[in-house]
Amino acid sequence: HAEADTDFILSQNQKWARQIVKKWQFTKDTTHETKPIVVAGKEIVTGRKVYKALDKSQLKDEVLAGKFAMANEDDLKRAVETAKADVDGWRAKTYEQRHAILKQAAIKVRERRGDLIGIAAAEVGKVFTETDVEVSEAVDFIEFYSHSSRYFEKYTNLQFKGKGVGVVIPPWNFPVAIPLGGVAATLAAGNTVIIKPATVAALTAYEMCKCFWDAGISKNVLQFVPCPGVLAGEHLVANEDVDYVILTGGEDTAASMLETRPNLFLTAETGGKDATIVTNMADRDQAIKNICQSAFGNSGQKCSATSLLVLEEEVYNDESFKKALVDAAKSMSVGSVWNLKNRIGTLANSVSGKLKEAIENLEEGEEWALAPSFAQDNEYMLKPSIKWNVKEGSFIHMNELFGPVLAVMKARNLKHAVDIVNATGYGLTSGIESLDEREVNYWKEHIKAGNLYVNRGTTGAIVLRQPFGGMGKSAIGAGRKVGIYNYITQFVDFEEVAKPE
Ligand code: GLU
Repeated sequence: HAEADTDFILSQNQKWARQIVKKWQFTKDTTHETKPIVVAGKEIVTGRKVYKALDKSQLKDEVLAGKFAMANEDDLKRAVETAKADVDGWRAKTYEQRHAILKQAAIKVRERRGDLIGIAAAEVGKVFTETDVEVSEAVDFIEFYSHSSRYFEKYTNLQFKGKGVGVVIPPWNFPVAIPLGGVAATLAAGNTVIIKPATVAALTAYEMCKCFWDAGISKNVLQFVPCPGVLAGEHLVANEDVDYVILTGGEDTAASMLETRPNLFLTAETGGKDATIVTNMADRDQAIKNICQSAFGNSGQKCSATSLLVLEEEVYNDESFKKALVDAAKSMSVGSVWNLKNRIGTLANSVSGKLKEAIENLEEGEEWALAPSFAQDNEYMLKPSIKWNVKEGSFIHMNELFGPVLAVMKARNLKHAVDIVNATGYGLTSGIESLDEREVNYWKEHIKAGNLYVNRGTTGAIVLRQPFGGMGKSAIGAGRKVGIYNYITQFVDFEEVAKPE
């Protein structure tokens, strides 16, 4: 069963949340010790470049979230050598031995829920409730992958061995669950692992890795190397001693990895342009609630976020629906993560690229139902916005923005709506709001996406219940869905063994 999230309505949990604020909201005067890279069993700080992470909720005062050392070329080479040599014999351990240690790691993650929430708030600008669900997912990942490795040993005539060295390159938007998922699957499959965290979320990844080290995974088995992407490309991805890479990131990154090394075993989850369709047969109030959380939760910085809203004509023309949607979006307060009333914190990066283009321009016919603006003059505090009358083939129809901007489009009927959604070429998550079973069945049959949600938001997949991963432009390489039994089989070699009757 799935790990439970925290109920922040309960007063003891609110008290706990205030303690997290006290521990992790730093001031200008806080002194931070530099977090080390971890290579070949050692923590290294000296002689390395230091990256300073800003707390974007306290931008004006230039408060730091922390500091960490960056790995250089030699560190990366040494990390791969160490991982390959597997001096501590992780690969040779039995399933039971690995399981016992991973179980301890799950316990550490559980115990440190508050610290993981605190550091992700300081470093990435994620509100407590959003990281809380990630921590639950993280616990589920460890327990499930460890359990699924047992499945193969115990219930089949197959014995498996890890392929060797796995490299995990996660994004910053789920700074706990995604890095941890890659690490846990790799370890459960009997491989050594090198993690190159996202630079804007490295401190959170370090805190996550500590749970494994403290549980008894050695620093030769799990190595931690924050570094610029270019270096990782040259010295991890391109290194033939790396057996596979688990990437969650941009299509461009995935493509360039395969270009650098065509024989690379890559599993890549590469984004989405996810839609929710609301038909005339929907419960419109429920739809609004699901849409707002899916579109604006974590500032829309989720591959699974609803960024297109396709309305069947009658709903599109319903002025009261439009007003209620705008009001609901406005009610999601944006501001400091340290003020627990805020539903949305800060962006991980300041507005640029496609997101900037989408909020600064209106194409033919488009208008703002809710215009974009910033809270507290902070360039990272972008409030939810809603673009109306978006046309097929427009920039915002076709491009992933990774921000709190919802594009609303009109469809003549359900078939037309499905065509609009499929036209993006992505295929990660998709939602429908309809109480009519025939409509839902039609939609299920024709929509192209990996995760289909009926009368529910499009974010927050639960391990095993909703194995996560897509098709089309959303999945590049060999990747399978995460959170399902066959996920770890990608990282092992099987041997058939005759078992005694
Ligand atoms: N698994 C997450 C969800 O279901 C999304 C992960 C991502 O953004 O890559 O919301």
